[in-house]
Amino acid sequence: MDQRTKKIETVLAEDRQFHPPEAFSRQAHIPSMEEYAKLYKKSIHNPVSFWESVANELVWFQKWDKALEESEAPFYKWFVNGKTNISYNCLDRHLDSALRNKAAIIWEGEAGDQRTLTYSQLHKQVCRFANVLKKLGIGRGDRVAIYLPMVPELVISTLACARLGAVHSVIFAGFSAEAIRDRVLDCEAKLVITADGGWRRGNILPLKNIVDEAIQDCACVKHIIVVKRGENDPFPCHMKEGRDYWYHDIIDGVSAECAAVPMDSEAMLFLLYTSGTTGKPKGIIHTTGGYMVYTYITAKYVFDLKPQDVYWCTADIGWVTGHSYTVYGPLTNAATVLIYEGAPNWPDKGRFWKMVEEHAVTIFYTAPTAIRSFMKWGDEWPNKYNLSSLRLLGTVGESINPEAWIWYHQTIGKGRCPIVDTWWQTETGGIMLTPLPGATSTKPGSATLPFFGIEAAVLSEEGKEAEAGILAICRPWPGMLRGIYGDSQRYKQTYWSKWPGKYFPGDGAKKDKDGYYWILGRIDDVVNIAGHRIGTAELESVFVEHESVAEAGVIGIDHEIKGQCLVCFISLKEGRQATESLAEELKEWIAKKIGRFAMPEKIIFAADLPKTRSGKIMRRLLRDIASGRALGNVTTLADANVVEQLKKKYEED
Ligand code: ATP
Ligand code: MG
Repeated sequence: MDQRTKKIETVLAEDRQFHPPEAFSRQAHIPSMEEYAKLYKKSIHNPVSFWESVANELVWFQKWDKALEESEAPFYKWFVNGKTNISYNCLDRHLDSALRNKAAIIWEGEAGDQRTLTYSQLHKQVCRFANVLKKLGIGRGDRVAIYLPMVPELVISTLACARLGAVHSVIFAGFSAEAIRDRVLDCEAKLVITADGGWRRGNILPLKNIVDEAIQDCACVKHIIVVKRGENDPFPCHMKEGRDYWYHDIIDGVSAECAAVPMDSEAMLFLLYTSGTTGKPKGIIHTTGGYMVYTYITAKYVFDLKPQDVYWCTADIGWVTGHSYTVYGPLTNAATVLIYEGAPNWPDKGRFWKMVEEHAVTIFYTAPTAIRSFMKWGDEWPNKYNLSSLRLLGTVGESINPEAWIWYHQTIGKGRCPIVDTWWQTETGGIMLTPLPGATSTKPGSATLPFFGIEAAVLSEEGKEAEAGILAICRPWPGMLRGIYGDSQRYKQTYWSKWPGKYFPGDGAKKDKDGYYWILGRIDDVVNIAGHRIGTAELESVFVEHESVAEAGVIGIDHEIKGQCLVCFISLKEGRQATESLAEELKEWIAKKIGRFAMPEKIIFAADLPKTRSGKIMRRLLRDIASGRALGNVTTLADANVVEQLKKKYEED
């Protein structure tokens, strides 16, 4: 094993293949592999004409001079001097046709309350709220922080900001006061939009109180707008005279006419902080034109959106997936989007499937972590409901363990629905590697092939093509980030300095004989055992193949002889006992499936693993625990108790 080239080995042998059902392909936007190959080739050979033709499907107030400006790379510009407005393209563009009376949003609260907004109604709401923001002095370039539960006002707020050219920064409702303070100060937000409360598992989170605490030291914040959601709120919501306004009061009687401001293609649209899986979150900048074009076309082709679809992406809008594939991508396509406020296990573990049945959901997009929870809870929950409306399933956020993929395919999709495993990042703005459901044969655990216009590669540290190594994106694309807020050097350094002219996403990958990509996890997470460099995602998938295991988090810690050895945090399926003998069995399982060299040093059973708000396992915290270090940045943890308990358990073991 050559240490210098730092080659990554792969251990997962997955050779099952699933072809798109014929009936699906027949009606699909991209109906065959030939069609994909033809269009892909075109998009790579003549990217300017490809991207211009996509951009022409949308409305521009002024046409661009140049599709791509590369002279100041990596500070690329797209659709230079074009003027548009993404809120206009999500709303106004659909109002002249029958689409105006089509449902844009079907919303369901945790308690079961429902609201439907047609495109015309959503347009009115957005215009009215944009007028409110204007009245409070918000205009082009001003930053607005949004800390709302998953209610329609969250979508309305983002679109109202976009309408005026204000920059939104959505903060996941559930983040602490500290996380809000960091984000508000970083971008000097002038206004915060929040709610008195948000529902989660039958309880109310006192969002406004958390905002009050957060902004004590934020002189930049001039106003707070508060959506009433807590109903018989148990937490007194203090409203500061002249600074705070109830949403329903301030919007009352306001005009529903508000022209969308023509925005420069490169004007900032939003800021969003990454999940913080590998470290402190970064404030990622996205701009208007390129992001709009990219989310529009990826949503259309990857989800094969059709007029009659009811599309449900379960991601919170506080995460990039919610931005691109709940709000902007689907709405620019005039889709009907289902939005749900609460937890998947409230009032019971069948909630999602009940909603799929009731709303006749056709497209369902979620994360591997959620799928593993569903598996853990048992098949009886989905089996209680009629899921026959579903025609397409999707996943994003982490590599999906092949076992979880198969379960998703059979138990949810009944073997009938293609699965799109979509690889992308906050930074990429939209989906980069993905099957196209009517064209691509899928392999469980592989994000398959690049989207149109995306040139990907697997490279060694030195930039040579490798079978397994580091994922690279070899040219700019319209949806790409334009920087890290307030730190352009860090942008260049983090993403564009590993290999000349190529984007470095930080993930390990392998490419198989069919050219399919398999994400091996973060480069930071690669373990080195007795000279074998292995991505943790594969090791975890081998654990998940075991009938007792629901979820696994694997890390390497220093070992005198092997260099590193494996410490494995395992959460079991419901009803399984965490015994000494099961720990031994799991060690043998790895030894048998991968090789004796990989035999885990330690198995730690855990009720839950530390995860980010977007559901990713935080291996850096597992490493901190295992090496007895103080815990690193924990502001993006979903549940701080999990890591504290695990730390205690580890120290006792
Ligand atoms: P930070 O950059 O602050 O550490 P983060 O990378 O977790 O946070 P996101 O932008 O939400 O923040 O996550 C993007 C990452 O998620 C990708 O780099 C990749 O590691 C992982 N990922 C997303 N989708 C997939 C997928 N389909 N397959 C494998 N990995 C995926
Ligand atoms: Mg990242």
